[in-house]
Amino acid sequence: MFCDLAIIGTGPAGLSAGLYAGRYKLKTKIFGAVLGGAMAEAWQMENYPGFIQISGLELAKKMKAQVEKLGVEIIQEEVVKIQKKSTKDANKPIFQITPRSGQDLESRAVILALGTQRKKLNIPGEEKFLGHGVSYCATCDAPFFKNKTVAVVGGGDAACTAALLLSQHASLVYLLVRGEELKGEPVNIENVKKNEKIRIFYKTEAKEIGGQENVESLILNNDQQLSVEGVFIEIGATPVSALIEKLQIEVDQKGYIKVDENQRTNLPFVYAAGDITNAMGGFKQSITAAAQGALAATSAYRDLTSS
Ligand SMILES: Cc1cc2nc3c(=O)[nH]c(=O)nc-3n(C[C@H](O)[C@H](O)[C@H](O)COP(=O)(O)OP(=O)(O)OC[C@H]3O[C@@H](n4cnc5c(N)ncnc54)[C@H](O)[C@@H]3O)c2cc1C
Repeated sequence: MFCDLAIIGTGPAGLSAGLYAGRYKLKTKIFGAVLGGAMAEAWQMENYPGFIQISGLELAKKMKAQVEKLGVEIIQEEVVKIQKKSTKDANKPIFQITPRSGQDLESRAVILALGTQRKKLNIPGEEKFLGHGVSYCATCDAPFFKNKTVAVVGGGDAACTAALLLSQHASLVYLLVRGEELKGEPVNIENVKKNEKIRIFYKTEAKEIGGQENVESLILNNDQQLSVEGVFIEIGATPVSALIEKLQIEVDQKGYIKVDENQRTNLPFVYAAGDITNAMGGFKQSITAAAQGALAATSAYRDLTSS
């Protein structure tokens, strides 16, 4: 199999890249392990333009249908290897994409839209109540906790900003910090400390999340039980990087792929889009991922048609 462009990832970045690539008439294949990626975990999105309220999975299905209508094939398959093959003309590389099962694909260009993995607490109840009170995204879910009591787990800047945002909606926010101090932007720490709706518990860890259908309680490591309806886990995310380790793609200190303002990586004909990149000031949302995907496909089109 040979194509112009291989896109790895079927989250909003990869699907949006596929939409633009299809319209540019590039022969494109998209591989993705999970349709919708992290977006599929959003049980209700209210911040994607055009939809007052939609689940992440529903939105992903609509994106998929729009892409397929353009003749772009979406292969639901994990990619286990991407290899740059040696060619006679160094300016025209070929990339070999190896899926876990099925046929290898050769492509003239690649867009990496692999997303991130949220760090998990790995405590009882965390998986069971995902979408039923457990969330990894305060930006997305805070409005659903109006006048409720919630807990934020984490002590870094993401946890501070999540607590501040939640305090605008919830009636009470517990901030559970494993260490002895908050680590984040000084202004955020200051705002957290003077916010009357936020109660900080230092040297505290979450042990178990309880409830029937939805979250009702959080048990701490000192066995204290908090009555909460939401638990926001903000202990960081890591880029999905195993696939790119051998490609010698430049990443920042945290492992996010470095891209220029047009989503090009340091490797010619390799682009990256969405949560896996260091673009857009680290603002990781579906809309920014989709925007980056559109730009990555445009850059690929320009490079492929001018070389
Ligand atoms: C619970 C939750 C709620 C959220 N709510 C909102 C919200 O309300 N609004 C909003 O704008 N954003 C929300 N977000 C954030 C949003 O989902 C992400 O910013 C967005 O999904 C990032 O898109 P992406 O395409 O870069 O990555 P992802 O969506 O993570 O997609 C990555 C894709 O890469 C695939 N992949 C990875 N490795 C491989 C491989 N080796 N082979 C093949 N495929 C691979 C994955 O299967 C997946 O398809 C939420 C996130 C979470 C976790």
